Amino acid sequence: MASETGLGMVHVYTGNGKGKTTASLGLGMRAAGHGFRVLMIQFMKGDIKYGELEAAKHLPNFKILQYGRPDFVDKNNPAQIDIDLAGKGLERARKAVQDGEADLLILDEINVAAEWKLVSVSDVMNIVRARPETMEIVLTGRYAPAEFIEIADTVTEMTEIKHPFRNGVLARKGVEY
Ligand code: ATP
Ligand code: MG
Repeated sequence: MASETGLGMVHVYTGNGKGKTTASLGLGMRAAGHGFRVLMIQFMKGDIKYGELEAAKHLPNFKILQYGRPDFVDKNNPAQIDIDLAGKGLERARKAVQDGEADLLILDEINVAAEWKLVSVSDVMNIVRARPETMEIVLTGRYAPAEFIEIADTVTEMTEIKHPFRNGVLARKGVEY
């Protein structure tokens, strides 16, 4: 049942093509423009100056928090610090849900954090289920667990057809970060 604002649904943006995080940022900007409170919690990201961090500072109702390191996490042997940071990010998400702190909560790269076992799928599911009925949630990242897809109302899979990385073009400012 839709809430009075219409918000309250769950999105998953997954797949190997470019556009998952940026789609969620676009959604956040759209929601912020209507005065909704947007909170994006980024997992497995930190220290790199993503343009969105600076841009969000210009929007009083759009907050972005990072819980991660700039380094790649080793899937088969994650460092304790990566597990700890992801756990802190999830704790922050739990608090946001408990306090009804946002109208749109974006958990960026949570799909990867769950697949890499930095956080447990069931912990994430419990947070999603516990959301206020007026809170919309977005889960981004490759390898979305089946449970996330099952609970979501909107699921979009970005499929790589082309990416300049294949031609040796590295991450570009304003495009990849
Ligand atoms: P974006 O942040 O640009 O929306 P994304 O969230 O879909 O991308 P991720 O899977 O989170 O992409 O990948 C992290 C980084 O790799 C980003 O800088 C992203 O732009 C880049 N990237 C995304 N898809 C590809 C791809 N198919 N090949 C190489 N790099 C990619
Ligand atoms: Mg991403």
